[in-house]
Amino acid sequence: MRKRDLDRFRNLLETRLVELYRAAHRTARWGMERHSMDQDTPRDEGDEAQRVQARDLQMGLAENEARLAQQMEEALKRITRGVYGQCVDCGGPIEISRLRAVPWALRCAEDQEALEYEARDRSPSL
Ligand SMILES: [Zn+2]
Repeated sequence: MRKRDLDRFRNLLETRLVELYRAAHRTARWGMERHSMDQDTPRDEGDEAQRVQARDLQMGLAENEARLAQQMEEALKRITRGVYGQCVDCGGPIEISRLRAVPWALRCAEDQEALEYEARDRSPSL
């Protein structure tokens, strides 16, 4: 991969990571601040239940984001190691168009499809 492309992907990944960590930070603070926020809204049990529900939803998102952040960190490490854009299965180049869509992709489209096909195959059918 050309250095120019590599730099672009590194910037992209770093930007996305910073955004993610900022969002995660907000989520972490949300739990602590939930008693001080919404000060204007009247307190009743329904209101409290709604807030708890919203918090659970946010925790769920944070979990996905944590996984995503991990994948991005891994991609950045791969850039450092000089193996970014190489398929972990066949060692061939991952399509640039694919990396643009999924900068932390580990496999070329063909191997990813094969993997997903296998996963589908393994899952029990009713
Ligand atoms: Zn491959």
